[in-house]
Amino acid sequence: MAYRIQSLLTQDKSALESALALDGTTARLEVRMLLQQVLQVSHAFLIAHPDTELNAEQRAVYTALLERRLAGEPLAYILGKREFFGLNFIVSPATLIPRPDTELLVTEALQRLPAQSTAQTQVLDLGTGSGAIALSLAHTRPDLAVTAVDASPAALEIAKENAARLHCNHVRLLQSDWFSALNHAQFDLIVSNPPYIAEADAHLQQGDLRFEPRSALAAGEDGMDDLRHLIANARTHLRPGGWLLLEHGYDQAPRVRELLAKAGYTDIYSARDLSGIERVSGGRLLAGKV
Ligand code: GLN
Repeated sequence: MAYRIQSLLTQDKSALESALALDGTTARLEVRMLLQQVLQVSHAFLIAHPDTELNAEQRAVYTALLERRLAGEPLAYILGKREFFGLNFIVSPATLIPRPDTELLVTEALQRLPAQSTAQTQVLDLGTGSGAIALSLAHTRPDLAVTAVDASPAALEIAKENAARLHCNHVRLLQSDWFSALNHAQFDLIVSNPPYIAEADAHLQQGDLRFEPRSALAAGEDGMDDLRHLIANARTHLRPGGWLLLEHGYDQAPRVRELLAKAGYTDIYSARDLSGIERVSGGRLLAGKV
């Protein structure tokens, strides 16, 4: 019947393809992930047992989840989780869904940290959301002193839960509107994936973005309000030689580099994401530049 694993992987894949304009590979992956969630099995199980029939209870749960997805709700919110940097993060509608492109910010940050932190290396993640960036750094480099802030208490609750699950309880999580709660703290590296979409951008009305927190996505008329704020205010929170690395929109790299230069940063550069787009820009402050 229609509730055999193999049939669902074909028929519901097509339903998702047409309802959400997904490509076939993505649609099939999504059906597979829904089935794994409902049956609590691995991908290997689905391959080995394609003739398994869902029982009545599993059908009901599966159908409810599939209908939410067909109505456009992001898969990450339906499953309550998303993988990032090889780690499992829980997510909720209070947090942005971690994107593969943001892994670039993590790898760029890791490359700029001293191989061995002697006096403890201080790292700050601004607008941490689910904690994806801060916890990926802390998990990879347990020697770092990582602070992560977010203005949203609901997001911080999710970040705290992720910190506990990833055994990163040493990460300091603070409610703070950007730098507001940080007093005079200084850091060797500041990273952020701030909101950077223009308020009027039509993408905010499309796909997953419709369901994500607007405060984590949109930032003023040109999308650069928060990037400007971070570049201007990071200066007093960087130790001499400290780096500021920022994720930004597909066409914002030249403007971000210009802002960094005007604010006195040096060694300014941009790095390209998986699609070849300049997605992260950064620079550092040498002693005496503040
Ligand atoms: N990269 C996200 C997108 O374009 C936006 C995330 C952000 O604004 N920081 O969908």
